[in-house]
Amino acid sequence: SSMEFEGEIAFKNVSLVYEDTKIKALDNISFEVKKGETLAIIGRTGSGKSTILSLISRLHDPTSGEVIIDGISLTKANLTDLRNSIGVVPQDAFLFSDTIKNNIKFGKENATDEEVIQAAKYADVHENIINFKDHYETMIGERGITLSGGQKQRVSIARAIINNPEILLLDDCLSAVDTETEETILNNLQIVCKNKTTIIVSHRVSSAKNANKIIVLNNGQITQQGTHYQL
Ligand code: ATP
Repeated sequence: SSMEFEGEIAFKNVSLVYEDTKIKALDNISFEVKKGETLAIIGRTGSGKSTILSLISRLHDPTSGEVIIDGISLTKANLTDLRNSIGVVPQDAFLFSDTIKNNIKFGKENATDEEVIQAAKYADVHENIINFKDHYETMIGERGITLSGGQKQRVSIARAIINNPEILLLDDCLSAVDTETEETILNNLQIVCKNKTTIIVSHRVSSAKNANKIIVLNNGQITQQGTHYQL
């Protein structure tokens, strides 16, 4: 039988050296995120932000230290349950050559039209979609229209919202939207993901606006940690 994780995440002295390149991407990282909290990880390109997310999805194991979820080491967690509890919105959204609706519903094929529209509204892409000729039935990709980078990112966020994961990992997924739209989406996420654990990775400090905690990463090390107010 499968179980969902609650979403309490802790890193304990985690380091990661990529074997092929010998790059030390993370150097003695420790932090905690409680269930329902939002953590923002801010840092320049190459600082190790995506690597932190990849450890949570267990795409890699730490070279040393431990990643703990709901009090148990990730190495002892059931991988299927783990991945079913996590929704990842990547930097570059992967969209299919299919309708916008089917792209939003991907992973939750039984979603109703109302749920699709609600998710698109939260992701601030509904207005764009209803301006397309075939609305939610509009084909995108090679057999249809080309979405802008920011529209793709927002469709990808709608997809994550509709799947309603306990743990939401946002990997610089608002980089192509302006800061005003970013703020709207972050405020909506705060409502729709109220009890979910959210980690948002960004190179922009503005992404940390609603976070309970902020980590500043530099060269794989935490250089600052605190609330928006403290930093
Ligand atoms: P960006 O904002 O550009 O995505 P980031 O902060 O997410 O950067 P990471 O992608 O975690 O940073 O990369 C941290 C370091 O690890 C970089 O020096 C990068 O080149 C290296 N790195 C990342 N992924 C791998 C990999 N799969 N194999 C080897 N080295 C990697």
